[in-house]
Amino acid sequence: MIDAAPCEAIILRYTNYGEADRIVSLLTKEHGVCSAFARNARKSRRRFGGALQPFNRIRVLWQQRRRAGMAQLAEIELLEAATPLVSDLDALSMAAYGCELVSVLLPEEQPVDDVYRVVAAFLSYLPHAECFAVSRLLLELRLLELAGLLPHIGHCACCWQPLRDDWLVFDARRGGTLCPRCAPDGVGVAVALTTLGSLVRLLRVEPTRFSAIRLSDETLQQGGAVMHQVLGLHIGRTLKSEQFLRQIQQAL
Ligand SMILES: [Zn+2]
Repeated sequence: MIDAAPCEAIILRYTNYGEADRIVSLLTKEHGVCSAFARNARKSRRRFGGALQPFNRIRVLWQQRRRAGMAQLAEIELLEAATPLVSDLDALSMAAYGCELVSVLLPEEQPVDDVYRVVAAFLSYLPHAECFAVSRLLLELRLLELAGLLPHIGHCACCWQPLRDDWLVFDARRGGTLCPRCAPDGVGVAVALTTLGSLVRLLRVEPTRFSAIRLSDETLQQGGAVMHQVLGLHIGRTLKSEQFLRQIQQAL
């Protein structure tokens, strides 16, 4: 239940509703991911101006009266415009992916510590990103960890022994990384011990830091395969924004 206190929010996306209204999906520190009704958002620019756009960071004033159980926006104030993202298709498509990922991974109206800070830092970083693949891996890893969905990475998920072999398998359905004794069938993603070590080290980095982190192609490829498997297990479908990302990468 959303109380009436003003709060900061990131606009994840919106859908038009009826002739003039919008339903906006927001990420807030206080309420986590939530939906809000923006009455007359498309007709009257008085209350919302042009600020009701995806990826903008805004301050929200809530309407006291609810409509159909959904919180309603009274006014918004623009805190950080996503304008720098709009001129860069790679950055824009990565922002769309990040915001869709947040909305499918996190439960509605349940705040999860640090998620807001991580997503705000991710969106601010994208217009001058050094490497989109690194920022994507960092975001996936951090969101999974914060949502409590990250399986065992740094030790065997079955016997809990430290990992010693150079190559291991990762199988999200069986709890994560498995040593050769526990997964003699070799079923899963083949992943090098060095990659798993890198993922563990990345989890120790301050979660809002995206810049000046370099990863080898091997870590990016294997780490990406590990994330793909875990996300597939929890989401069960390909996100629209991910399909779009793939199309852009193929077009390069
Ligand atoms: Zn084991």
